[in-house]
Amino acid sequence: MQNHMDYKTDVLIIGTGVAGLYCALNLREDFQILMITKESMRDSNTYLAQGGISTALNKEDIPCFIKDTLKAGGYKNNISSVQILCTESRENINTLLDWGLPLDKKQGGLAYTREGAHSINRIVHCSDSTGKTLEECLIKKVQSHKNITIFENTEFVDILVEDNCCIGGIAIKEGKPFIIIAKVVVLACGGIGGLFKNTTNQSTVTGDGIAIAIKNNIKLKDLSYIQFHPTALYEENINSRRFLISESLRGEGAKLYNSKGQRFVKELLPRNVVAKAIYKEIRTSGIPYVMLDFSFQPEDYIKQRFPLIYEECKKRGLDITKEAIPVSPAQHYFMGGIEVDLFSRTSMNNLYAVGETACTGVHGNNRLASNSLLEGIVFSKKAASDINTQVDLIKASCLKDFPDIIHDLKEIQKNMKNLVIKELLRRSKEFHAEFFNH
Ligand SMILES: Cc1cc2nc3c(=O)[nH]c(=O)nc-3n(C[C@H](O)[C@H](O)[C@H](O)COP(=O)(O)OP(=O)(O)OC[C@H]3O[C@@H](n4cnc5c(N)ncnc54)[C@H](O)[C@@H]3O)c2cc1C
Repeated sequence: MQNHMDYKTDVLIIGTGVAGLYCALNLREDFQILMITKESMRDSNTYLAQGGISTALNKEDIPCFIKDTLKAGGYKNNISSVQILCTESRENINTLLDWGLPLDKKQGGLAYTREGAHSINRIVHCSDSTGKTLEECLIKKVQSHKNITIFENTEFVDILVEDNCCIGGIAIKEGKPFIIIAKVVVLACGGIGGLFKNTTNQSTVTGDGIAIAIKNNIKLKDLSYIQFHPTALYEENINSRRFLISESLRGEGAKLYNSKGQRFVKELLPRNVVAKAIYKEIRTSGIPYVMLDFSFQPEDYIKQRFPLIYEECKKRGLDITKEAIPVSPAQHYFMGGIEVDLFSRTSMNNLYAVGETACTGVHGNNRLASNSLLEGIVFSKKAASDINTQVDLIKASCLKDFPDIIHDLKEIQKNMKNLVIKELLRRSKEFHAEFFNH
């Protein structure tokens, strides 16, 4: 006998980052949509994004944007998804502008900045808090939709499957498990950073989508493609998330120096190249950081363009308008994930994956800066457009008396993490057990 509430919905979305929210907003308004998220709606990597969102400036820029994305990705990218990403970037940025996203402006048009491995300035931004501003804009819009319900502090632990069709899932709220029957499930539960000791990521993001995929034999792809950001702020004895110093600082001229005060790498090379060069310096000098200097820029400009970074460094006793700051690489982004097609469909029927949980192959083995929010936007809209035409055809499953599957919740949550860590260690020789929070 079950002692919990059960729910029934058309579409169930796991995660309230950019991918989950944008997907919900692109679904038909006659659908019932349930979104669930582990902690508060704002506990996502999206909320932390600083630098911005890349976009083709116009039609003429699309080939160059494609070229930059492929080059940064070591030509391991899926070319069809790169074409979609770059070609559909502009129209989605226009949608966000229509929805009220206050992107920074310059001389009447949008202000564009540059980050590593982009040939030109093509990144739109909301000062250095792009993710927070984007997330607030999308949350406000989602909350105005009567057909969308959000459960916070609710953890999704598994999907329910019948004949290779996903028919819903199991979640836990306030220690109590419950079942949600859905015609379609969308996994938008982010990357894997919360599994690492040294990461820029939110702690809620622990590869749960990947664990669910492993448990249910859903196809995964490129699990060894993990990105380390070159410039997280170095702090001694820190055991929480590392504060990121956005690449757009280097895009606007910040320089890296080694322990001898020498430049040692071109700052705007792809992230993996810059991160490797910093690791080399750290190994040779025995000093666990290099220095990043932006203090040659005018103080007013720094405070106005990078208010978040200025304030966060100030809190830690560092003044970026006056001095160089210590930085070192940290785990930042997961290029691999649940394998999806061009409409974000996984290898299981009625199950979609979007955002960092998914592997569209768009990033190859190294993501081009600011292509992640864009991927979440473009491919969650693709998922929504497919779901919009499919859902009426899917027969709703009935609420059944599922056996009480959940006994020891702590054990289940721990097992999810261990499942992913084990798989990552199996697939990549570069990682070692001590990198992870077991
Ligand atoms: C510090 C930082 C700066 C960044 N800057 C940029 C940038 O400037 N530009 C750019 O393009 N990208 C940037 N990125 C990357 C980008 O922010 C993320 O890749 C992107 O936001 C991922 O979006 P998402 O919707 O897939 O996942 P997320 O935004 O991470 O959201 C995942 C959601 O799923 C929830 N969740 C997870 N597991 C469960 C579960 N079991 N049950 C219920 N809910 C669950 C989480 O709580 C969260 O709400 C940055 C990342 C970081 C960490």
